[in-house]
Amino acid sequence: MYVLLRQLATIRREASLARGRPRSLAIRHVDAGSCNGCEHELGAVTNPFHDLQRHGLDVVASPRHADILLVTGPVTTRMAERLLTAYRAMPEPRLVAALGDCALGCNVLGDPAELAGPLEDMLPVDIRIPGCPPTPDAIAEHILAGLKPGASRARARCS
Ligand code: SF4
Repeated sequence: MYVLLRQLATIRREASLARGRPRSLAIRHVDAGSCNGCEHELGAVTNPFHDLQRHGLDVVASPRHADILLVTGPVTTRMAERLLTAYRAMPEPRLVAALGDCALGCNVLGDPAELAGPLEDMLPVDIRIPGCPPTPDAIAEHILAGLKPGASRARARCS
């Protein structure tokens, strides 16, 4: 029964990611060392006004249930291993989204001695959301655009 449920979950995930129009995709957010500005906007995306859920996306508490790893902040040395642990815990297929200029490696925050390096060098980033911080509408737009088949995977510029 457990194996069957896992297979059904994988089929659902693959179908939703391949379609480019999410029906039910889960986002696991990891704050890798941000100033909380990006978290504030991310919180607003899920409020009743912006209502990210209407697009078939929602934020979940466990990486084991997640399809998209959404990272905010520059990756600090203290958070690097935790970030990789969350990524490894996610079932495949999985996507990585960088939210905000810090996650895009734009050197906005942090002492270089306390940063583990650009997120792009640690994980395969699929979706890039520039801004410091990006607005709730921009967050939703970039995630939805990044889910479309054939979406550009090129490195985004800083805002
Ligand atoms: S991108 Fe801007 S708002 Fe987001 S964590 Fe960095 S400094 Fe804060």
